[in-house]
Amino acid sequence: MTQLIRMAIRAEGIVQGVGFRPFVYTLATGLGLTGHVGNDADGVFAEIEGPAAAVSKFLLALERDAPPLARIEQVTATAITPRGSRSFTIAASGPVGRTSTLVSADTATCADCLRELADPADRRFGYPFINCTNCGPRFTIIRDVPYDRPLTTMADFEMCGPCAAEYHDPADRRFHAQPTCCPACGPRLRLLDPAGNVLPGPPLARTAELLREGQVLAVKGLGGYHLAADAACEKAVAALRARKHREDKPFAVMAADLAAARRLCEFDDDDDAAAALLTSKGRPIVLLTRRPDADVAASTAPGNRSLGIMLPYTPLHHLLLQAVGRPIVLTSGNVSDEPILFRDDDALAGLGGIADAFCVHDRAIHVRTDDSVTRVFGGRPMLIRRSRGYVPEPLSVASTFPRPVLACGAELKNTFCLARDRHAFISHHIGDLENAETLRSFTEGIEHFRRLFDIDPQVVAHDLHPEYLSTKYALELADIDLAGVQHHHAHIASCLADNGADGPVIGVAFDGTGYGTDGTIWGGEFLVADLTGYERAGHLAPVPMPGGAAAIRQPWRMAAAYLDADPQSPGGPETDHLDVMRRNQARWSAVVAMARKGINAPLTSSAGRLFDAAAAILGVRDAINYEGQAAVELEQLADPGETGAYPAGIETGPPFRACGGDLLRGVVEDLAAGIAPEVIAARFHHGVAALIEAGCLLARERHGLGTVALSGGVFQNQLLLRDAVSRLEARGFHVLLHSRIPCNDGGISLGQAVVAGARDRLALYRP
Ligand SMILES: [Zn+2]
Ligand SMILES: [Zn+2]
Repeated sequence: MTQLIRMAIRAEGIVQGVGFRPFVYTLATGLGLTGHVGNDADGVFAEIEGPAAAVSKFLLALERDAPPLARIEQVTATAITPRGSRSFTIAASGPVGRTSTLVSADTATCADCLRELADPADRRFGYPFINCTNCGPRFTIIRDVPYDRPLTTMADFEMCGPCAAEYHDPADRRFHAQPTCCPACGPRLRLLDPAGNVLPGPPLARTAELLREGQVLAVKGLGGYHLAADAACEKAVAALRARKHREDKPFAVMAADLAAARRLCEFDDDDDAAAALLTSKGRPIVLLTRRPDADVAASTAPGNRSLGIMLPYTPLHHLLLQAVGRPIVLTSGNVSDEPILFRDDDALAGLGGIADAFCVHDRAIHVRTDDSVTRVFGGRPMLIRRSRGYVPEPLSVASTFPRPVLACGAELKNTFCLARDRHAFISHHIGDLENAETLRSFTEGIEHFRRLFDIDPQVVAHDLHPEYLSTKYALELADIDLAGVQHHHAHIASCLADNGADGPVIGVAFDGTGYGTDGTIWGGEFLVADLTGYERAGHLAPVPMPGGAAAIRQPWRMAAAYLDADPQSPGGPETDHLDVMRRNQARWSAVVAMARKGINAPLTSSAGRLFDAAAAILGVRDAINYEGQAAVELEQLADPGETGAYPAGIETGPPFRACGGDLLRGVVEDLAAGIAPEVIAARFHHGVAALIEAGCLLARERHGLGTVALSGGVFQNQLLLRDAVSRLEARGFHVLLHSRIPCNDGGISLGQAVVAGARDRLALYRP
């Protein structure tokens, strides 16, 4: 008789709500093994019994063939005494104590569901809420843990007989799939007029017709309301833009499939990576180069060579795109800078003046979650906004957090981060913490994450800026240890964590604004940094920001400050031949005087402001409508074929000061010489890249470090990033870039968390 062995097995990671127990059941029974499998607070537990050969096959297949949404972080198997069990069973869920199990992100409709959706013989044929264990809503519908139907927004829908049978059958694809439903028992679509009255006719077909007729529709999606319009119809897209009071910021477009996306955009050198990202389970918006012949209305992304494309990620989107028959603009349902609307009443009230009709449904959205935004760089995904489809899956970090950490993030593009053990749970995109609604999302979001992941923070990390609402929130908490983290140090730390590194490195943090430790505003920083601390090795030479925040909104003020500060500049105080001066003549001398006297003119080393000055001098833009707009348009203007670079001097310090103003002198001289603005814009970009190269060479000479980490929102600029990386690599540097976490302020919370964790490992916060 064959010797039987029995193993106690534990699987941790994302193993609940992803079909893991039925997978184990099918695997074990297929191999003739007995025992049981169940869920508890730590993940999935199982005992299996049978011949040694079958048991090893089981263990091999357990990780190799796991269901698509599972993310196994650890499997442990311990030999125990055989019990002679006769069958394999699915055990009742264990008691819920401290939950360390992970919650899956919302996931695009799977191939099996799409097949059923298109099959006239299937009972879910054409049903816009079809889902299964491998796909569908998760994070956006979860109210509390454990992840079980009564604690989701599906609680109100009682399953019909056939759905319940599938839900309880371990061999079924919908076994314990919490959002399981069908036309008989699940959510339904309705089409409403802006007053909330139900419009006659089949809602989906009518929505598609209205879109084809050029109307603007509000469509309730997975994480909030979208506004939709026919992407090829200029009248419709222009109306949407005008009604939304969104002057320039590009709209995203949803295409039915990859082939349709390829008709709109070039996939460039990164074809495979771009296609993989577009079709990945998170289904983010992917920024791609627009084809010259793309049939897209001019108002979709004015003055932009890129287009943000996404593919359908819910059955509703699939059906809608099919019915419309061409790509649609699909942009956040909000009014100008307010957060995306996700509650039905708020949406009707807020979007009533924008949408001609509302395509809605009765499944509530629990957490507002914006679409994620990505691009491909060097064959790898690069997250720009990490939200729907990614959140709340954690980033695993290299070193354990000794105590639970809450990191409150920055002010703009805010995210927060809760961390415990080796997991950092970075929140969905909260937005700019400038109004009551986003502040409420921030505080409620923190409470929600604390409950979901059972994290009770003992260390709270925050920015040093005393006026950030996120900082104020941290300072008001009681009975915790506070960890203040300098903004640019947090940027570099987030890049380190993104790469599983801990430094030390030469960290180049180029962004718009961050609170410095010397009373000036930083933003063009060369830091020698590891996770615990940093030294300011060098920075851009500071200039005044005349008018403070006004100088951020009006880039011409930065042009005035830079030109005035440079005695050698041919555009300096004694001349008035520059267009930027003529255009702003009325206020120019007052602003210059403000800069000279230092009245409401804080000093800044910001790289973002340097780009602003260049953009204003070149006539790209004197005032902006959204953050970073002048720099974005300067990049769009640049001639991709031009390789020249303006030189910039470095005062050796330490800390060294790189003279950004020298680049502007190059701009002014070339303008005077009649060089094309496209060429000048390119030479400015290459000049900044050369300045980064020179700064890193000097830092390497002084500190003996060969690795550079690039972080900060300025590195969303592809032209700059590509040139900086190639220059640094040519000099033998190892270059760390962001991939999973944004280089912009959306990544700050992770950086703060890992810095706080590293300092806590040194027991810096304990008596
Ligand atoms: Zn499915
Ligand atoms: Zn049903």
